[in-house]
Amino acid sequence: EIFVGMATCEIAAGSREAMKVFNDAIESGELKDTRVSRKGCAGRCNVEPTIEVVTGGKSYRYIKVTPEKASEIVQKHLIGGEVITEWLQGECGSEKPESDDLHNRSYGRFGDLPVFGKQLRIALRNCGIIDPENIDEYIHNRGYEALADVLKNHKAANVIEKVKESGLRGRGGAGFPTGLKWDITAKFQDEEMYVICNADEGDPGAFMDRSTIEGDPHSVLEGMLIGAYAIGATNGIIYIRAEYPLAIKRLEIAIGQAKEKGLLGENILGSGFSFDVELRLGAGAFVCGEETALIHSIEGRRGMPKPRPPYPSESGLFGKPTLINNVETWSNIPALMLDGTDWFSTVGTEKSKGTKVFALAGRVYNTGLVEVPMGTTLREMVYDIGGGIPDGKEFKAVQTGGPSGGCLPASYLETKIDYDSLAAAGSIMGSGGMIVMDETSCMVDVAKFFLEFTQDESCGKCTPCREGTKRMLEILTRITEGKGRPGDIEKLERLGTMIQKSSLCGLGQSAPNPVLSTIKNFRDEYVEHIEEKK
Ligand code: SF4
Repeated sequence: EIFVGMATCEIAAGSREAMKVFNDAIESGELKDTRVSRKGCAGRCNVEPTIEVVTGGKSYRYIKVTPEKASEIVQKHLIGGEVITEWLQGECGSEKPESDDLHNRSYGRFGDLPVFGKQLRIALRNCGIIDPENIDEYIHNRGYEALADVLKNHKAANVIEKVKESGLRGRGGAGFPTGLKWDITAKFQDEEMYVICNADEGDPGAFMDRSTIEGDPHSVLEGMLIGAYAIGATNGIIYIRAEYPLAIKRLEIAIGQAKEKGLLGENILGSGFSFDVELRLGAGAFVCGEETALIHSIEGRRGMPKPRPPYPSESGLFGKPTLINNVETWSNIPALMLDGTDWFSTVGTEKSKGTKVFALAGRVYNTGLVEVPMGTTLREMVYDIGGGIPDGKEFKAVQTGGPSGGCLPASYLETKIDYDSLAAAGSIMGSGGMIVMDETSCMVDVAKFFLEFTQDESCGKCTPCREGTKRMLEILTRITEGKGRPGDIEKLERLGTMIQKSSLCGLGQSAPNPVLSTIKNFRDEYVEHIEEKK
């Protein structure tokens, strides 16, 4: 069996061409008793296209597979039986695991590289393992087993209790306890209740949601089904950005297949519980990731946040009680229900349970999609998983939390990745963007880049964010152009603090973070820019 990486990143790297070579070899009769399947992204974005050959009960993962390499793999390995070791990504011939342990199934399939050694794949347990367009492969990997168990053996309140016990917190950025959110929503019973999956991923450099959906759309659907049962909702909506055509296609296929199997629609698995899901496409406004703006957008109104309370739990979509979680939160739910909340709560730190998915980008060897237990340090991310800084350069900073996060210098490398430690260090967890910078990065330019983004994405509803970020950007621009004035740094600090305190939504409240954190940690660079002018 040959699995070819067919996520957006793999296709962009040329995996379609490699797949054609294998398909042609089967069609011509050169390869016999061989099946070619697609798989999602396994996270090794810097060495794609990747393919996996499973033969004789062993798994071999080849990297950077060009059409020429694919032809050679056909001739030497698949026909000649000779493993081409120099193209393998890890130790060759990992045993294909037969474990029932859901979160550990992936290891043997990924080889023994350090890049995987410190990872624990719960949300991404099937990504890069199964064909995302084939529901049977998901079911084979214990898919929809959690749903069947919940519908058969658990009362709704019991499901909420389990999610509470697990300690899972929302992975969209704010880290609100998931079980508590479900509990609050369930208390506002109404004839119509909604469950929403927030897949409006918009951070520069972030691709967690896209990759998760492209690699394993059913885990998101199954999570939503369990959540809907728990709060008593019958309607589900996945709000996904229109710029993700492959993820949209895979969700449409998954929804169609789930309906055919009686896993969506009326009287699911004969339980009497009914639930249906539809997709709504966002037009690419970053602010629509904020839940009240997202709800406005689904309702056909302009995507702008509104003051809370009331929270969506009480009055959400069309004024009805609404439960919103993001892609990663939903995809955790089947795993924690199946492997047990006791197990789940042993992973991570005291207040941040489980794992977190990151899009690791910037100046490290191994860029890509990673999932680590909470409590992993920034140093482990940069050096053990990321493989360190290329070209013999020095590490300078790591930015967590996307455009709303802070830039942390080397003195923070021992910081644990969890909600509270990152906040205490002056950054945020955010939804999972992580960008590493080396000694050649200008931190004033970095701050300007992120502020340009948030300023551009400000919806304009409230003055501090609309006007304040513009003024901050003007000051930053003149500093980077060598026209900085004495007092500019202090002005940035005053403005930034004011915007944080007085903006209506998270976008404005966090927009100054990259500027304030770089001033705090790299003030000399701002001073140098201004003094160079004299
Ligand atoms: Fe709009 Fe910014 Fe105000 Fe949020 S903080 S409502 S994005 S203007």
